[in-house]
This record gives sequence, C-alpha cells and structure tokens, in this order.
Amino acid sequence: MDLLPVIDTGKFSAHLRRRGLRLDSREVLITKFNGSKEAKDFTLPPNCQGFGRIHHFRRFQGDNWPSNSLPIDPALKALQLPPRDMLLVQVFQNAICSWRCWYCFVDFDLLSANPRFSEFKTCEQILDLYLAEPERPLVIDLSGGQPDLVPEWGYWFYQELIKRSLSDQVYLWTDDNLSNDYLWRFLKPEQINELARSTHYGRVGCFKGYDPFSFRFNTKAAPELFKQQFHLMRRLVDSGFDVFGYATFTNSTDVDIRQHMRVFVDRLQEEVHELFPLRTVPLRITRFSPTKGRMTSDEERAIEIQKVAVEAWTEELEGRFTVDIRKRSITEQRINNR
Ligand code: SF4
Repeated sequence: MDLLPVIDTGKFSAHLRRRGLRLDSREVLITKFNGSKEAKDFTLPPNCQGFGRIHHFRRFQGDNWPSNSLPIDPALKALQLPPRDMLLVQVFQNAICSWRCWYCFVDFDLLSANPRFSEFKTCEQILDLYLAEPERPLVIDLSGGQPDLVPEWGYWFYQELIKRSLSDQVYLWTDDNLSNDYLWRFLKPEQINELARSTHYGRVGCFKGYDPFSFRFNTKAAPELFKQQFHLMRRLVDSGFDVFGYATFTNSTDVDIRQHMRVFVDRLQEEVHELFPLRTVPLRITRFSPTKGRMTSDEERAIEIQKVAVEAWTEELEGRFTVDIRKRSITEQRINNR
C-alpha cells in the first residue's frame, strides 16, 4: 500500500466549502464538463450548456454482482412509474470533494474548485438550464464532488422545484460520501425536516470500504473516519430521510476478508439499522478514463479483490435474512417511519 499523506478531512472540507459556496447570493460551484476526461466516458454529450450530463443508471452490474436498484426503484415509486431496469437521470455535479478515491470516475481537477472546469450558479439558473433542454429526465441527481460540503444546495434546489410547481413531478436524489456533519451544522432543523418529509426526495451515502484499512486505501483519508460513516448514516435515518447506502469493496489485500465483511455487516445492523444491509448496494468499481493513467498495481489488484469481497457480502446477507425478506424491493425495507 502506498504511504501518501493522509487528507486532513476537517480542514480540507472547510477550505473547499469556502471555495464552493457563495452564501449571500445562494450560488454553488458547479462542474462544467467540457474538455474533461470524465466527459470521454459519457454516452451522450454534456447538456445544459456543459453543466449537466445524462446518466443511464442500470440495474445489472455484471454476473455474480447484486443488482443496483438505486436510484431506480425509489424514483419509480415516487413517480408512480412501472418497473424498469434502466433509468435516465439528469446529473449536476458540484466541483469540490474532500476525498480522493483512486477509483473516482471524476477527474481530480473537477473536485478541487478549478475555475477551468466550474462556474458559480444559483439553483434558479440550474433549473432554467434543465427546463431549456428538449428531452428532460424526470429524475435529477445532485452529485459530486461532495454535495454535502454545501448542504444548502439540495435544500435550495428543492425550494426552487416547489416554486415552479415541479416538486411532485420531478424526483430529486442527492449523493453523499459520508465525510461530514454539515447537513446538521448548516441547515436549520425545520429545513432538514422539510427535505426529509418530501415524498420526491431520496439520498444515498457511500461506505468507502469494508474496514478502516480498505477505507484508507480507497479515500486517502484517515482510517479513524471509517467508523464516522455509520454514525452519519444513523443520523440520516433518525432525521427521517429516505436514505440508502452504496458500498465499495476494493482493497489492496484480501487477508481475512470474510471476517472483515462479517464485522462490516454487523456494524450496519447494530449501528445503523437491522435492515440497513438490505438498503445497501455494493457498487462494482471499473476503470474509467480519469483513472486509467493514474492506477497503481495495488489498485489494479483491488479491482480483482472486490469480487471476493462481494461474494463474502452475499454470503453474509444470505445467512442473515430469509429469501422472502431479501426478495422485497429496496424501498420496502423499512427503517424509519417513511
Ligand atoms: S468521495 Fe466520491 S466524488 Fe469524492 S473522490 Fe471519492 S468517489 Fe470521487
């Protein structure tokens, strides 16, 4: 494993928040994709004047991988649409992130508030860009970067949807890397409640690894922050959000992988919710244009090791939940009074 310096997540997050938000004018630093490596992987060219992209979310992740029902099933449920295995989603990214996951499909230049690839926009301007598109997906994903460095973004965006009578026609989804508690620090309790109560808003938090060592390997952040992810997820559940999990299982070693996975699933059940493993989707990591040139031999190996890890995950779930419970839709795994 490399011994790169550990990111000081607290300091770096505060610095990026200052660079990624203009509170007075309610502007957020949004990624402009033109000329980026990330854009090379798009199946459709960037839209919304370069500030948006259309993503095809697919349920099938490959043989022997659990299917990925996020955000497909929560969105279809809210919009009362019939089942399907692929969903078109309008994505916007904020241009800052506190971590540097080696497998990130976003160029690191698009995570560091680089003015070459970003501009400040209000939610009103972003929605104007979306509404000017001839083809508009009914699902909008505020992604990153790390949207929760500027939790005002999701709230302002939801307010703007209400203002335009779109809040029950569009499903809003936000991604979170579970690196900070800014949601509770910078939004008022009534604002959090309003978002959490919406039937057309869902969110996902990503667990980066299955133990402190894999977390450090994946994010370049301090391994002690691994446990914080469970605490933050529990707060999201307790705040009443319709919240789901992703997990990435890449690591540079497969030593004791089954034992580590057992403890990981124990923690999801004990520290978040008994049913939370069934609201969590292991994400398959593949190579992307931004990662190809920067991957080390350990990272190449991690792509193989995740296969062993996901087998261990599947065995754990099969041992803990009956077929009937596992078969239920991810949206029917009830964890709060949503
Ligand atoms: S937390 Fe997400 S956006 Fe940030 S580096 Fe990791 S994968 Fe990329």
